[in-house]
Amino acid sequence: MQSPWKQDFPIFLPHAHPHLCYLDSAATCLTPKHVADAMYHYQCYMHANNPKGLYQLTAYLSDLIEQARHKLASFLGAANDSEIVFTRGTTDALNMIAYSYLEPQLIKAKQQEEPSNIVISAAEHEANILPWQRLAKAYGAELRVIPLNAKGVIDLAKYTALLDKHTRLVAICHSSNVIGVNNPVEQICKIARNKNIVTVIDGAQSIVRCDVNVNSLDCDIYTFSAHKLYGPTGCGVAYIRADLLEVMRPYQVGGAASISQHINEDLEQRNPQKLELNTVNIVGIVGLVEAIDYLTDMSSQKLNDYLCNLSAYMHERLNLLPYFQPLFPIQPKQIINHSIACFQLNGLNSQDVAGLLDYEGIAVSVGHHCAQSLHRLLGVDSSVRVSLGIYNDYKDVDHLVSALESAYRVMA
Ligand code: PLP
Repeated sequence: MQSPWKQDFPIFLPHAHPHLCYLDSAATCLTPKHVADAMYHYQCYMHANNPKGLYQLTAYLSDLIEQARHKLASFLGAANDSEIVFTRGTTDALNMIAYSYLEPQLIKAKQQEEPSNIVISAAEHEANILPWQRLAKAYGAELRVIPLNAKGVIDLAKYTALLDKHTRLVAICHSSNVIGVNNPVEQICKIARNKNIVTVIDGAQSIVRCDVNVNSLDCDIYTFSAHKLYGPTGCGVAYIRADLLEVMRPYQVGGAASISQHINEDLEQRNPQKLELNTVNIVGIVGLVEAIDYLTDMSSQKLNDYLCNLSAYMHERLNLLPYFQPLFPIQPKQIINHSIACFQLNGLNSQDVAGLLDYEGIAVSVGHHCAQSLHRLLGVDSSVRVSLGIYNDYKDVDHLVSALESAYRVMA
């Protein structure tokens, strides 16, 4: 049976790629027609710049952006619309937090001759390692890494043991882009909250489940990219708790940040616009809002059930291949976002395997998926990653498995 949502994705139309077997949704989700149409409509018929209603179109656009902020606040369960900052994506948001929040903290600690440490996990994407690593080096702070347990999730006891009064920030992924299972974020945030430590959650791989609630997670910051949610690239969101937003000092300035500005006066800044840098990606925001409408109209429960069943089928079939070597075996009942499987075929070069899959019209990721340190920890250079989206179905999984069987026959 074909996925009921596949027809919404023009990329599969006869004149485009009707035979594409797209198994790379953890890299980026394909775009439904609804999202492309909304962006097209905006760009053709509505486009102007947004500030402050200089004329009718701009007044409409200011409303559009503030309504989008409201939509995102309710999508994420944020208390205030002003806690939503539009960014260019997860990487952009994490860098912004590093320089707008963490750097001033590290400078202050250094001036007071206090040590600092930053806590991340062993399963982070480089977007959630490099900004902290760079600051740690610059200010002599320690980067502490939480080990994973046998299920591939953060070990809570070891995590707790790493925290102390000099921990300036905890930055972890809600779900790894390699292992694909959820971390116990609620507990992680609670432990940090009790010690007054700021938590940053990289939600790039978990947002697609449409069930994030920053209020119940009790995190300080939650970031994601629109393109991991069937929206456009170059657009994302950072939820930043109001009191934290208040103390953040934008590391880039210009235009929209200022309320009044004289050359020799201190800049007075508005929240959350002070972090948004003048003209935001309006068409991207339009696409993001449409993607949320598209997904929430269909019921996230229905989508998640569909993907969970398909994912269980995929793992079951892959595990039956005697030469299938998962990087981290998925346990039954673990929550799998994007339905990821990262693996090698015994003795085969992953690049070659991916090349043969491509020859069969199957698109997958290969390499270390920007998680080089995790790959090194697991003792592998590179892996094949397959990940499912709502357009995939049982036929795609069967196609993948038979292509892997023939790849093994040809190359082993
Ligand atoms: N964090 C995780 C867990 C990811 O999977 C990705 C992208 O693959 C990112 C961060 C970076 O996202 P972006 O490239 O949209 O900034």
